[in-house]
Amino acid sequence: CGIVGYAGARPALGIVLDGLRRLEYRGYDSAGVAIVCDGELLTEKKAGKLANLEKVLSERAAENPAGCGASPIGIGDGTTGIGHTRWATHGGPTDRNAHPHLSPDGRVAVIHNGIIENFAKLRTELEDQGVTFSSDTDTECAAHLLSAALTELRAAGQPDGPQLLTAAMRVVCQRLEGAFTLLAVDSAIPGAVVGARRNSPLVVGRGVGENYLASDVAAFIEHTREAVELGQDQIVLITSDSIEITDFDGQPASGKDFHIDWDS
Ligand code: GLU
Repeated sequence: CGIVGYAGARPALGIVLDGLRRLEYRGYDSAGVAIVCDGELLTEKKAGKLANLEKVLSERAAENPAGCGASPIGIGDGTTGIGHTRWATHGGPTDRNAHPHLSPDGRVAVIHNGIIENFAKLRTELEDQGVTFSSDTDTECAAHLLSAALTELRAAGQPDGPQLLTAAMRVVCQRLEGAFTLLAVDSAIPGAVVGARRNSPLVVGRGVGENYLASDVAAFIEHTREAVELGQDQIVLITSDSIEITDFDGQPASGKDFHIDWDS
């Protein structure tokens, strides 16, 4: 129901959680985050209020105060991250159905707002290929498809880097029907978050040395007032200092720039 992404120089976790708090008014039943930190993907997700998620994050920080657990709240000094609040449509509001959904190797994390209409067909197809699902959501098929696309593109010789995320997201979007805002990160591609949208909103917040993605500008309004609304069937890749928009065919595209002038 709510989506936040961050790529910049500051620890992402606090920014992502604050953003999710700003979207709480929309209602939700579960929440989760994925932070890229030192080439690792750190994820936590929990049914119930954001406070439940924050509690497990704090416990995790207490258990592991060193390394990626060095930030006050917990799992990350990583400066790239995504966060989600869920309003369940497929699969009950449980910990395992909360987002993010991960690839089997734990390297890729995906969050999703909306409904993937052809998920049953995609799930059967993936299961026939030997993929094991760990949730009842429509979303999880997007995580597996993205992971498979990344593997295939790497095998075809595409170099690791932010562009690879865009290329893989394009492959996924061409397979999906329905309504979706998707965000994804790959631990092997630090510093980048890719997003895509069809029939569901996605806006970019343009910062200085940092950029944001969100389902609603409320998530980042305390950080920047410069925004870009993505058009239908567009993919956006953010890093700390770039915003690149393309369409589902890979052609350069542009969103609608606007300034947010209402009070937060
Ligand atoms: N259809 C997805 C699910 O049930 C996403 C729901 C949402 O928009 O939060 O997990």
